[in-house]
Amino acid sequence: MPELPEVEVVRRGLEQFVVGRRIETVEVLHPRAVRRHEGGPDDFAARLTGRTVDGARRRGKYLWLPVGDDALLAHLGMSGQLLIVPRDLPLSPHVRIRFAFADGGADLRFTDQRTFGHLLVAADGAELPPVMAHIAADPLEDAFDLALLTKRMRTRKTGIKRALLDQSLVSGIGNIYADEALWRAKLHWARATDRLRSGQVAGLMAAVVDVFTEALKDGGTSFDSLYVNVNGESGYFDRSLNVYGRAGEPCRRCGALIRRDPFMNRSSYSCPVCQPRPRTGRW
Ligand SMILES: [Zn+2]
Repeated sequence: MPELPEVEVVRRGLEQFVVGRRIETVEVLHPRAVRRHEGGPDDFAARLTGRTVDGARRRGKYLWLPVGDDALLAHLGMSGQLLIVPRDLPLSPHVRIRFAFADGGADLRFTDQRTFGHLLVAADGAELPPVMAHIAADPLEDAFDLALLTKRMRTRKTGIKRALLDQSLVSGIGNIYADEALWRAKLHWARATDRLRSGQVAGLMAAVVDVFTEALKDGGTSFDSLYVNVNGESGYFDRSLNVYGRAGEPCRRCGALIRRDPFMNRSSYSCPVCQPRPRTGRW
């Protein structure tokens, strides 16, 4: 799945190239791409044709374009991409939806090789699409409330990494960034949230913001002028990872060998010295 910095890159691209433009035609080339849109492909197209894109917004890994009171909501899945391409460029075989604009400029094309992603129009979703009401603010949003998160973490009996991945507490943090932030904050992933001091939660969230900000610096600010895309496997931020995927390699802070533990059908990477195991953790 794409992570928050990659989705933010797409949001910035859409803001630059799509916002303020009027949609002239919408062609749904594969019905699976709108399978979650209640009215089906024709209704999807009808609700967007002639509308102007008012903005490009994001919460966590979710992206939406306000159009009037409604929103065009994008779930990119594993392989979905939103591309800004010249209007006369032939359609590639994986284009699922094509948006052409009244100004005659570049198209917006949703391509998805594996069709796991999808788009839908959320009625009255311009401010916040209703399906996202249960998703908490992410640490880069103005709406993010550290005091509230601290309070909720400390009343919950769970491990700190599970809490970081829980979208009802804080959104936008995936497995990779959770491990990277925990390493920076020198906290083991199984630390019990109800035993954390508020300064530790603040330090951890500052580490999350640092990791996101650095990833955006690496890959997030430059894209060529007519080609914007997101791809969960692009990995432009791989170079700057300190623990994730580095099992058996030396910690960049202390030299101890990074260890890998199984965690929720995935893995957790940590430094045994910088991030000692808690005696009473929550695994
Ligand atoms: Zn270390």
